[in-house]
Amino acid sequence: MSQAKKIEVTDVILRDAHQSLIATRMRTEDMLPICDKLDQVGYWSLEVWGGATFDACVRFLKEDPWERLRQLRKALPNTRLQMLLRGQNLLGYRHYADDVVEAFVQKAADNGIDVFRVFDALNDLRNLETAMKAVKKAGKHAQGTICYTTSPVHTPALFVKQAKELKAMGADSIAIKDMAGLLTPYATYELVKAIKAEVDLPLVVHSHSTSGLASLCQMKAIEAGADRVDTAISSFASGTSHPATESLVAALSGTPYDTELDLELLSEIADYFREVRKKYHQFESEFTREDVSVQINQVPGGMMSNLANQLKEQNALDRIREVFAEIPRVREDLGYPPLVTPTSQIVGTQAVYNVLAGQRYKTITNEVKRYLQGGYGQPPAAVNAELQKKAIGNESVHEGRPADQLSPELNKLREDIGSIAKSEEDVLTYAMFPDLGREFLQQRADGTLKPEELLPPEQGGKGRMGAGVATEFRIDVHGETYEVAVTGVGDSGAGKRKLYLSLDGMPEEVVFESLNEYVAEGSSGRKRATEPGHVTTAMPGNVVDVLVKEGDTVTAGQAVLVTEAMKMETEVHANVAGTVQAVHVAKGDRVTPGEVLIEIA
Ligand code: MN
Repeated sequence: MSQAKKIEVTDVILRDAHQSLIATRMRTEDMLPICDKLDQVGYWSLEVWGGATFDACVRFLKEDPWERLRQLRKALPNTRLQMLLRGQNLLGYRHYADDVVEAFVQKAADNGIDVFRVFDALNDLRNLETAMKAVKKAGKHAQGTICYTTSPVHTPALFVKQAKELKAMGADSIAIKDMAGLLTPYATYELVKAIKAEVDLPLVVHSHSTSGLASLCQMKAIEAGADRVDTAISSFASGTSHPATESLVAALSGTPYDTELDLELLSEIADYFREVRKKYHQFESEFTREDVSVQINQVPGGMMSNLANQLKEQNALDRIREVFAEIPRVREDLGYPPLVTPTSQIVGTQAVYNVLAGQRYKTITNEVKRYLQGGYGQPPAAVNAELQKKAIGNESVHEGRPADQLSPELNKLREDIGSIAKSEEDVLTYAMFPDLGREFLQQRADGTLKPEELLPPEQGGKGRMGAGVATEFRIDVHGETYEVAVTGVGDSGAGKRKLYLSLDGMPEEVVFESLNEYVAEGSSGRKRATEPGHVTTAMPGNVVDVLVKEGDTVTAGQAVLVTEAMKMETEVHANVAGTVQAVHVAKGDRVTPGEVLIEIA
């Protein structure tokens, strides 16, 4: 062993741990009572905020995420508070104009964030520039992040180059973000050694225990010179979360790497959260256990459960192996993007289309088109030129920084949301989640905010039966349990009923739609498609836009509808030329495959 070096610890209990294990549902009321003890530990930082926690606060918990931050700041006066920021996407799902990025970072700093871990799904550092500058301007710690993935182009040399560029952008430290649990111990050693040899900045490793390797990776990272690791207190550790804090502390105790943290104090904190976790039993899921398959086919665990559910909707679960085989091919065609929000959805959904259509790229999602136009930034490697031509024709590819195409938008956001926004923070909440944010602010104004209900402990886990007939079910989907009441609809001819579920999100940033996204097949009252002129959809989803109206003349192949599934938009095309005889859908409608949505004759 080399000379003594105290290893620093970031505990992710208040952000990533509950995001990874109980669908981001921990409430502020369950954080505050233990803050006094958390603040005594001596962590380098506590991760407390990010896209999914912000989203879950507004969507499910009906808490103001800014108020949570202020309360945590007050309750944790001696500990750095850290957040995860998706570069130019901030905490939302699109690129924001620079003025919104600057305002958001400043407000996050004002309300209590000390450390900003800034990343981009493609590792296109131009998408980090504005956020990093804003963090520095606010006088806070800018942690430049490398999203770890494996591919022929993702060599240690590429990551070293990226780390150097992050340093040049003013990074105060570097994070290796292994969201899928892809790191292996010796790859970690090689990578950390390579970066530490050339970049003189503190290096932190964030690796999920999904494949059971993260604690081994941490040891090798420490031996290779890493300065800090992310852990989760044991009662919210392991599986899709992170290695346990106490285990790391015990492992390093009495060595030159001693963390000097108090195991007894940590045990008391673990006991507290063990009780807290019981309250959220309805969000527990078998999909959060350790699963080594990410090491086999590079498909992250959470993405796998999403895909399984999407295929179930199609009665095509038996084709999941084909989809797993297709994902690396789509990823290669797109220039090997790391799989993290939003690229995981972009690649996964396109792979499902490719398999179910029986023909690759017969349908190309709008997001894949946007990606191939350069709308998300520069892919890590060259994309498949033939596919690019097929997707975007002769349109030019945007080579610049994506946000350079955006005009300032903060004033417009302020005007749009109007007087229900009581502060700049409220405007930013609306900017992150336009529909949800507006609804939240309106309900707050009306005094009608109501958090989702938690099930009492005695009902956990089991299905409940009605009087002789099962009408209520509990369905576990990737960390969330839904109670579903079937109300006697959905005759599909064989006496079967099917429930469809809108899927989106990934374990890093996972978001599921609520119960009202489930509809029974047949409940729409639309007839089944039988003619070539019957336009239908290949995937269950929502109608984003109807592009034609009754009486319009259309050509074969013309886009007539835009639908959305898993947050991916897809154009639905007319199979035949003719006149639109009837339109059976409107914006916002839920649609399922086989239904006649538009009639052309
Ligand atoms: Mn994570």
